[in-house]
Amino acid sequence: MATAERARGRRTAEDGPRLDRLIAEQEEIFVRNRPRAAEIQRRAERHLAGGVTSSWQVAEPKPVWIERGKGSKVWDVDGHELVDLHNGYGVMAVGHAHPKIVEAVQRRVTEGTHFAQPTPDSIVVAENLAERFGLPLWRFGNSGTEATMDAVHLMRAATGRNKIIKVEGTYHGHHDSVQVSVYQEGEDLGPNDHPFSAPASAGIPTEIIELTRVVPFNDLETLERVFAEHEGEIAGMIMEAVMMNCGIVLSTLPGYLEGVRRITSEHGALLTFDEVKTGLTIHPGGATAAFGVTPDIVCLAKALGGGLPCGAIGGTEEVMDVIVRGEYDQVGTFNGNPLTMAAARATLTEVLTPAAYERFDALRERMTRGCREVIDEYDLPAYVEAIGAKGSVTFAPETVTDYRDYVKIDGRYSHALWLFQHNGGVFLPPWGKAEQWMLSVQHSDQDVDLFAENLRAFATALRS
Ligand code: PMP
Repeated sequence: MATAERARGRRTAEDGPRLDRLIAEQEEIFVRNRPRAAEIQRRAERHLAGGVTSSWQVAEPKPVWIERGKGSKVWDVDGHELVDLHNGYGVMAVGHAHPKIVEAVQRRVTEGTHFAQPTPDSIVVAENLAERFGLPLWRFGNSGTEATMDAVHLMRAATGRNKIIKVEGTYHGHHDSVQVSVYQEGEDLGPNDHPFSAPASAGIPTEIIELTRVVPFNDLETLERVFAEHEGEIAGMIMEAVMMNCGIVLSTLPGYLEGVRRITSEHGALLTFDEVKTGLTIHPGGATAAFGVTPDIVCLAKALGGGLPCGAIGGTEEVMDVIVRGEYDQVGTFNGNPLTMAAARATLTEVLTPAAYERFDALRERMTRGCREVIDEYDLPAYVEAIGAKGSVTFAPETVTDYRDYVKIDGRYSHALWLFQHNGGVFLPPWGKAEQWMLSVQHSDQDVDLFAENLRAFATALRS
């Protein structure tokens, strides 16, 4: 399932200036080869705030404008063909324009796309998820943010408590309760064992921030202490079982997830696994099935909709009863949208089959092997962490185990690699060290080999 490799590589004194030079050279190539994107960007900036449709579409040196996608590839507006390992921030496990998804969506579109009433496809989707995640009851929404927002509301509604716990540095969407301690640096971090509840951006009221307590990943002692300090006040904890907005960080503390499960239960609090990234990608039943620890609530989004906007929460009978009884109204005009449900049904029942996960395993092994060869050969200060359809080259000499390790990573390595990959025909998420690659069922051996070749080109330039 997972492949982790540590390499105590060399980080030479020259790396810094050399990285600056390589970044400048590669950014110049990037801009020079994209005249049409530049023209579009100028026009976009007149009526799209910041020239993009989401702030995380900003990229250095310029946003990437895409025209179309097919299979494992996308084409930008200047006609460059790119192997897509960005995959829409981990959404496109099915690959682009997969025939099964196209067929399901085309059929549905001719029969009406929105009624604000359920369609039978939603039952099949819920049945499939119940089997994969071992949680009986499901509801749908339109994004990961909605899923984690519902989860936080549900934890509060079910326990009658207001405070929640989240893990330092993790991202769970952009609603107030979880916009706390996300990518903070310097003084905002606070002491190691008392991480601050720092606001992630402007616009988040202090009163709400105070309700979210922060603990380090891989640390049960601090978790116990926070529960003791707020006895009877914590509704629940939301976490990613594998941190996926810091590259990829697995729990290294033996029994960590089991410990979190035990401690939350002992304190009458609930546990939510945010599986927006991990669900359906690292294992058919996400981290929940992969690690055999079942939370009270699971949040899904991204890969579930096969490329259409979606979100879902699954829960135990006990927790979801709060919705059944009407104490918490889990609502939304577009919830269970027929088009999304048709695409999700095809994704779950026709594309993300056992054979798809075998394919992910084979591709991942090939890709990590290729990367490790380069890392060893060039003695890079890096290691590969990969699980299921996801993986990353992390430019740290030691395995990263929490956000504080992650924050120390020199982001220039991953930005330089992003540029080498992009100029070399491989599209990765633009946020360098924070993100990871994502495979689809339509990727080929050649696709993943190109990633390793571009890594080699970067390593050669760095060490020449
Ligand atoms: N949770 C996690 C773990 C995520 O990675 C993300 C998005 N990157 C979200 C929640 C929010 O999802 P969305 O962007 O669909 O609102």
